[in-house]
Amino acid sequence: MGKSAKDKRDIYYRLAKEEGYRARSAYKLIQIDSKFDIFKGVTKAVDLCAAPGSWSQVLAKKLSRQNSDKNDVKIVAVDLQAMAPIPGVIQIQGDITNVSKKNEENKDSSEQTDVVFLPTCFFLFITVSFISFFLLILFIAILQVSTAEEIISHFEGEKADLVVCDGAPDVTGLHDLDEFIQGQLLLSALNITTFILKTGGIFIAKIFRGKDVALLYLQLKIFFNDVLITKPRSSRNSSIESFIVCRDYNPPDGYEPMMFNPLLEEKEDEYFENIMKCPNNYIIPFIVCGDLDGFDADRTYPLQLESGKDYVYREPTQAPINPPYQKACQMKKSSELLKPQLT
Ligand code: SAM
Repeated sequence: MGKSAKDKRDIYYRLAKEEGYRARSAYKLIQIDSKFDIFKGVTKAVDLCAAPGSWSQVLAKKLSRQNSDKNDVKIVAVDLQAMAPIPGVIQIQGDITNVSKKNEENKDSSEQTDVVFLPTCFFLFITVSFISFFLLILFIAILQVSTAEEIISHFEGEKADLVVCDGAPDVTGLHDLDEFIQGQLLLSALNITTFILKTGGIFIAKIFRGKDVALLYLQLKIFFNDVLITKPRSSRNSSIESFIVCRDYNPPDGYEPMMFNPLLEEKEDEYFENIMKCPNNYIIPFIVCGDLDGFDADRTYPLQLESGKDYVYREPTQAPINPPYQKACQMKKSSELLKPQLT
């Protein structure tokens, strides 16, 4: 396949390179903004699942352009993968599903307390206490701050106006599983958002519109007065992704944000009890965004887009740093992935 074949097949991939974005996803956020004006009045933003960083690039560009005092602007980007630096963006390499270690710490110490009180022999008691104390010190030494707490620490008590999350798991092709994992990511993003978003703030997140998304919508509707789904023109029709646009953050009265993974931890009963209180008859509006006369993500365009303007091939703006597929690429290059020939 020629170097320019992908430029021809994927117009947004090509535009991203021409305009210096690290990924074609940049246009999804740009088109969501053109429809919903999400950057209006925003000085502080969080980009969850940000690598390779094209949404952070858009945020940095927009926020620095619209705020004359650059000191007011704060952008925090988080991803499992390492990201090349972007001026004006604080980067955290971490897992957004990584919840507070404080609960684990408490659990550990209570288990240790049980162990301490079990032996009847005084000598054993001293030995166990000593070992427990040593383990506790070791545990505290290796204790890492959870991703959520790290994000919060960068805001120094202030809250964000906007949280965006383009998170996607490595898709397996098993739709139910992919949708479930995507749902988990979205809930983790929502969980972090409840700590860092100011009242009235906006939350945008990728969502896979599968058969079970109704529950996710309902959960979002508890926290935001206005929830809708949008599909930017730059998102291919063949992709099940859409984006949820949640405006006017307004958690229920008395809601206390909790550091836990909403689906996987013991407090899920408490969480769902909360959720079930909401009315279940809300129909989420679905809106297409992006100029309808603009480029269509599913079309193939000629290399020469305008007459008189020659096509020039450009390398991608920023190659990913240590992507998870790196080993597979190396193996492919050295023909290690070839199937053994049957003789
Ligand atoms: N918005 C990005 C951009 O414009 O460059 C593209 C994001 S990419 C579609 C999805 C990202 O989600 C990947 O970089 C992946 O590492 C990240 N991701 C998936 N699960 C994650 C998790 N649990 N915590 C943090 N990042 C995660």
